[in-house]
Amino acid sequence: AEEQKIPVISTALSRLQQVFGYQNFRQGQEEVIRSALEGRDSLVVMATGSGKSLCYQIPALCFPGLTLVISPLISLMKDQVDQLCANGVAADYLNSAQSFEQQQQVQNKAISGQLKLLYLSPEKVMTNGFFHFISQCRVDFIAIDEAHCISQWGHDFRPEYTRLGGLKACFANAPVMALTATADSSTRQDILRHLNLQRPYIYVGSFDRPNIRYTLVEKFKPMEQLCRFVAAQKGKSGIVYCNSRSKAERIAETLRKQGIAAAAYHAGLENGLRERVQQDFQRDNLQVVVATIAFGMGINKSNVRFVAHFDLSRSIEAYYQESGRAGRDDLAAEAVLFYDPADYAWLQRMIAEKEESPQRRIEQYKLEAIGEFAESQTCRRLVLLNYFGENRQTPCNNCDICLDPPKKYDGLLDAQKILSAIYRLGQRYGIQYVIAVLRGLQNQKIRENRHDSLSVYGIGRDKSKEYWQSVIRQLIHLGFIRQVFGDVGAVLQLTESARPVLRGEVALSLATPRLSSLPVLHRAQK
Ligand code: ADP
Ligand code: ZN
Repeated sequence: AEEQKIPVISTALSRLQQVFGYQNFRQGQEEVIRSALEGRDSLVVMATGSGKSLCYQIPALCFPGLTLVISPLISLMKDQVDQLCANGVAADYLNSAQSFEQQQQVQNKAISGQLKLLYLSPEKVMTNGFFHFISQCRVDFIAIDEAHCISQWGHDFRPEYTRLGGLKACFANAPVMALTATADSSTRQDILRHLNLQRPYIYVGSFDRPNIRYTLVEKFKPMEQLCRFVAAQKGKSGIVYCNSRSKAERIAETLRKQGIAAAAYHAGLENGLRERVQQDFQRDNLQVVVATIAFGMGINKSNVRFVAHFDLSRSIEAYYQESGRAGRDDLAAEAVLFYDPADYAWLQRMIAEKEESPQRRIEQYKLEAIGEFAESQTCRRLVLLNYFGENRQTPCNNCDICLDPPKKYDGLLDAQKILSAIYRLGQRYGIQYVIAVLRGLQNQKIRENRHDSLSVYGIGRDKSKEYWQSVIRQLIHLGFIRQVFGDVGAVLQLTESARPVLRGEVALSLATPRLSSLPVLHRAQK
């Protein structure tokens, strides 16, 4: 067996060099490729951008017959096929967006042995038509991309994926390789089980993306903050993620008014337009794409320099995968999360309103984890990597916390001012109103309510609105204040633990509010 290994992997290496023009395998690729060439099933867990595609494309070029690649997104499929064809590889795809004639043509090419790789969308697989067609081909290898779509634990469950479980039985002699960038072990177990992988070789790569700098920015005036951030990028290519189509349109419009070449991209766009946006972005005719999460998976652009999240993601996996679109070329890149605890509270409420189910509990757990990431006072990268089960202790020196550690101060007096204001206001007002009273603003609502005669009116006029906002958020996070949602939005109320603070019976250390909208980004990246 030892003698066989050497020529096998040398064929793989020569394909890497001759077809793709790369000199060496990256971390993990060689072992994974070898296991496929030896006929073994495998599960490949690698971070986005670490080179998963070559793990199956190279074996596909070494096997004599056809390789099937199951891939969930048409745009991604087309992208990959175009790239392969540009490298002189015979590849094509079948999906439901094609006409009957187009599909027929592709099938004929596969049957007559003219294709090395055939990309398929999951709904094309395991149908009668599929069996009729595929029985005329010699299938040597099957790759299942984005394999986490088979798991309800994953952040992107796709029911069509469940039928892929039958593949193993149909193609008993073809090794199956499942690939994903989603790491958590429950998802991993689900993939192995649902796909019926036999004695699989399992490769789990490191999830660290050292060239990505993680930064969290507290939202004060989010649109303004975002515009300033994008302007500071000086024409560099980037993606802004947000949570709704209309918001994507609005942000793109605002950026365009600032002279930035930006476009919205979401599932509501008509196909032609969507493709054009994607292509313009790919070719650097567009600087910024403002996308809803539906977009991310399809983009394969190596020089994305920043990914900004205008809204909080629903899980660390989703955040990690989306932010991982930045810096695929290994050059310095920015991942910036604009965070408002109210966004978290809103997502929490959305989930709480769903019917009780295992799915709901999973969502709750995942949301809590990303909430902890956002509220973390320790190295962001450590939070991420430890979530993915990599046991790491050394701070990264390339995140906002490492570069600009939160400074602590004696926050008792500030806390007392806020808590007594909430109390005097009858615990019936939201964060903005409480701050307005603290700062002694003269507005009609305050005058009408006669809140300008309260003892707390104006006791915080020496500090900015952003300052108080940051302190209130910390008090929420520390459990002294809770946000209760009512008809008029979120209302601040005191919790039991607020009493000893009001009476001055406890010490209270808070983080000095960081008020620059971009705490660490103006420092030069190394
Ligand atoms: P993933 O699917 O894991 O997100 P890709 O397969 O798209 O990542 O690869 C990311 C980038 O890395 C691509 O531009 C790819 O060409 C490049 N790449 C992959 N393997 C190598 C290698 N061995 N040497 C150099 N570049 C590589
Ligand atoms: Zn760090």
